Amino acid sequence: MSRLNESRSTTLQRFRKLGLRCALAPFAFVVVLFAQSGEENFRKLREEMVRTQLGGSRWGAQAVREPRVLEAFRQVPRHRFVSEALVPYAYEDRPLPIGYGQTISQPYIVAKMTELLEPGKSHRALEIGTGSGYQAAILSQLVSDVYTIDIIEPLGVTARERLATLGHKNVEVRIGDGYYGWSEKAPFDCIVVTAAANHIPPPLIEQLKPGGRLVVAIGNPFQTQRLLLVTKGSKGPRDIRVQDIMPVSFVPLLSGSSGQ
Ligand code: SAH
Repeated sequence: MSRLNESRSTTLQRFRKLGLRCALAPFAFVVVLFAQSGEENFRKLREEMVRTQLGGSRWGAQAVREPRVLEAFRQVPRHRFVSEALVPYAYEDRPLPIGYGQTISQPYIVAKMTELLEPGKSHRALEIGTGSGYQAAILSQLVSDVYTIDIIEPLGVTARERLATLGHKNVEVRIGDGYYGWSEKAPFDCIVVTAAANHIPPPLIEQLKPGGRLVVAIGNPFQTQRLLLVTKGSKGPRDIRVQDIMPVSFVPLLSGSSGQ
């Protein structure tokens, strides 16, 4: 090939590439617009969820009013914590399956538990039952550090990856039996157990700071349990006050407490 022909063919190739880019540009634009409108739709669904589910009273229970908690629910994309098939239901008023027989609680329950913890900006929080990582993501918006434990390894590993992808840098996920808490990271200002136990795990009381708050569902699995708020006083591990908040229905806390 002569030099002239060679330069003609490279020029032709450049034009073709440019032509291809120009032809694809509108598609890329549409894809970006589509993604943006999708995100905007999810934002609207979150706003609606906050207004109707969290703001309304349920089963005679109080609406969630703490503005910081409501803002966290506006921010965290709940649809990123469920499988693709369940994305259309992510903002509905119900729990959703997350695999391994486990569920992500309905938004109101997550919000009520979070509000009961009275999470402060400088607080260290412990969660037992990472599951999808949604409750941990909500807490990560509200406190300084979140420690979360799950006994089912694949759930914990997936949640760890998901939380990292979504930029929740202040969350640490551990695989293990949460009944025993996380003594290396204790004491905690607040502890939430997102599975039902048949008694309050003593290690969790021990790992709570004086003045700290623990929220846990107590009762028999596969029946309605009671959501309890446990507050610790300053006169030692027995100085606790237990308040019965409302009926709830959680999956059971596995092993440790119940031997399951
Ligand atoms: N908080 C989760 C939902 C929790 S479902 C979310 O926001 O998605 C209950 C979780 O508790 C399940 O993932 C289950 O594996 C976990 N679990 C049950 N028993 C446990 C135990 N002893 N220690 C730690 N995690 C436990």
